[in-house]
Amino acid sequence: MSNDLPPDEFRSAMHRVADLVADYLEGVGDRPVLPAVAPGEVRRVLPAAPPEEPEPVDTILDDYLRVIEPNVTHWNHPGFFAYFAITGSGPGILGETLAAALNVNAMLWRTGPAPTELEERVCGWLGQMMGLPPELRGHINDTASSSSLVALAAARHRLPGLDVRVKGLAGRPEAPPLTVYASDQAHSSIDKSAIVLGVGQENVRRIASDGAFRMSVPALAEAIARDRAEGRLPMAVVATAGTTSTTSVDPVPEIADLCEREGIWLHVDAAYAGSAAICPELRALMPGLERADSLVVNPHKWLFTPVDCSVLFVRDPALLKAAFSLVPEYLRTDEAAEVTNLMDLGFQLGRRFRSLKLWMVIRSFGVEGLRERIREHCAMARGLAGRVEADPRFELAAPVPFSTVCFRARPASTPEEQDRFNERLMARINAAGPVLLSHTVLQGRYTLRAAIGNLRTEREHVEALWKLIVKSFEELA
Ligand code: PLP
Repeated sequence: MSNDLPPDEFRSAMHRVADLVADYLEGVGDRPVLPAVAPGEVRRVLPAAPPEEPEPVDTILDDYLRVIEPNVTHWNHPGFFAYFAITGSGPGILGETLAAALNVNAMLWRTGPAPTELEERVCGWLGQMMGLPPELRGHINDTASSSSLVALAAARHRLPGLDVRVKGLAGRPEAPPLTVYASDQAHSSIDKSAIVLGVGQENVRRIASDGAFRMSVPALAEAIARDRAEGRLPMAVVATAGTTSTTSVDPVPEIADLCEREGIWLHVDAAYAGSAAICPELRALMPGLERADSLVVNPHKWLFTPVDCSVLFVRDPALLKAAFSLVPEYLRTDEAAEVTNLMDLGFQLGRRFRSLKLWMVIRSFGVEGLRERIREHCAMARGLAGRVEADPRFELAAPVPFSTVCFRARPASTPEEQDRFNERLMARINAAGPVLLSHTVLQGRYTLRAAIGNLRTEREHVEALWKLIVKSFEELA
């Protein structure tokens, strides 16, 4: 008995997997975006008990083709316009595959010299691409949720006299309530960080945004002053560059000025739009990113890198290390003083080799190639927005700075009826199969979103989307 898959079997299975992946990617656009599957249906065809005896890999791959592949939501589909559309591009898939083969756990430099140094180098590249100053040092986490959590933990660690790392927060009447500020458009991951960090959801101040969904700085200043007057301790402000609903950009320079005056940590959530900062003209829509104490950008959102890959830039890595580093005896190494040990930069010990896929994406497309693709997505979004604006039966619900279009139909009826109409409109569009939209609520109104971010999406797909929107409207109206 071989202890692993015998080499010749592995090689031939790997070749089959290569064909299977290439076939899938080539044909994905011919499927409906959403699988025709009801809850529980996949579970029902999977055996309840694990197999006692070995099964041939070919049989398992046959089942993959029969049960799994047809029953995923096809994020690779050119008609995927929901949430933030993403692409695990060819080079990224290759990198992910090689990383799985190496199976490195780069918790320490010693346990992954090349992964550690490649991660530092590739994050340095990304910082340059985005026009960030070199003092913002990047490292990779799984998701923006983790990156923001880590950043806010560092912000908490910087608060003088609290020493939460050692003393915790519970049972300390002398510790003031900590507060975090983010706009009413900020991502829910900020509230989740507050839950984990002992700040508490009710101490996340959701600051009102203006008509263009940008955080109001006077309202922020007022909230901070009120909290200070009432004995609370402001811990961090989270500005968003590219909010989840509308991709609006908070006024980061003014927020940074306020944070500087108040001595408050500024975290910038650029999970989506940070990628667009590689295009100078789009970076100009997000001034002030360079002033962040910490900033998160997700290459897995709009830089064509397979999920998961989130880069957290921090101005003071030593502070991050002070917040998190904890080295048990078995992880002590001689070279610790001269290298980065990635385990020191966050709460998790083990680290996947995520920089490999990002390295392959950046090299394979080139920075200019990445810019071209992002610009094309933005151009397609402008095209769709133009269609919406030119048709009196529809309206744009928000400005379109990047590649996401928020819109709604406006049949002649009350706002409540219009909301129900738009809900039904989206259901009808999505039921047709070739596209998937998602929704949001803006200023209390049900709103449809079309997010363009997939490498397979071309102008003809956006044109087909618009035709489907109009046809569905006419059938419903
Ligand atoms: N921040 C923003 C602005 C987002 O839009 C999202 C997700 O869409 C997140 C954070 C969370 O990202 P992740 O899934 O990487 O945690």
